[in-house]
Amino acid sequence: MLTIENIEVTYHHTVQALRGLSLEVPDGKIVTLLGTNGAGKTTTLKAASNLLALENGEVGEGRISFNGQSIMSIQPDRLVQQGLFHVREGRRVFTEMTVEDNLIAASYALDQRKVKPDYDKVYDFFPRLKERRRQVAGYLSGGEQQMLAFGRAMIARPELILMDEPSLGLAPKIVEEIFDTIKRLNTEDGTSILLVEQNAGVAFGVADYGYIMESGQIVMEGDVAKLRNDKDIQSFYLGMS
Ligand code: ATP
Repeated sequence: MLTIENIEVTYHHTVQALRGLSLEVPDGKIVTLLGTNGAGKTTTLKAASNLLALENGEVGEGRISFNGQSIMSIQPDRLVQQGLFHVREGRRVFTEMTVEDNLIAASYALDQRKVKPDYDKVYDFFPRLKERRRQVAGYLSGGEQQMLAFGRAMIARPELILMDEPSLGLAPKIVEEIFDTIKRLNTEDGTSILLVEQNAGVAFGVADYGYIMESGQIVMEGDVAKLRNDKDIQSFYLGMS
């Protein structure tokens, strides 16, 4: 579904953030990308959804394709219409709009496909959003804003969601709720997910396959069952001694 082959990314023509990175998200799978701060995880997602130019970043070498077609020159809003949705770090929602209007705004991508938005489904997945649907999003808690950011992705009915650190700064109970929903969407709808995380424990709970990156490169990959048993991963990422 998503194939990234050997990409190099540089910011401001000087900072090299990715050095020949390759990864793949097969159809219907959840793939997690783990790594320490600054490894290049967010940059990888931004390269896939064509957001680098906004920050003076560019892909030099390499190729990125979605369903067999190069997407390197397709604008982010067109990518949403084509079925690729990026839930960016920091829960970007429209804080001055209500929950419901945030979801309505996410439905524009469907107009082209003549598909009706399914608001009830989002409210079924996240009853808390239903209770707060007339409230301005800026007044939601961090966890609720993450739910709304995810709900906006669901409304666009993507084939692939790129999720950037959904667990960041959230209480364990909320993290559990959000990750249950990630798994549910994948199981019920077959939505593929590329999940960037620092919390390997929760990511391994839902993912099929994982990549570990350091300094702009993949240093290890494998089925989650294999990664979980790796001694280095246990000590560096799972806090086991
Ligand atoms: P974190 O977990 O802290 O979010 P990350 O793995 O997502 O880290 P990136 O944010 O992709 O890492 O950053 C990779 C490298 O690129 C870092 O060295 C970072 O300083 C650099 N970088 C990221 N964004 C920019 C930018 N807009 N301009 C210049 N350098 C950048």
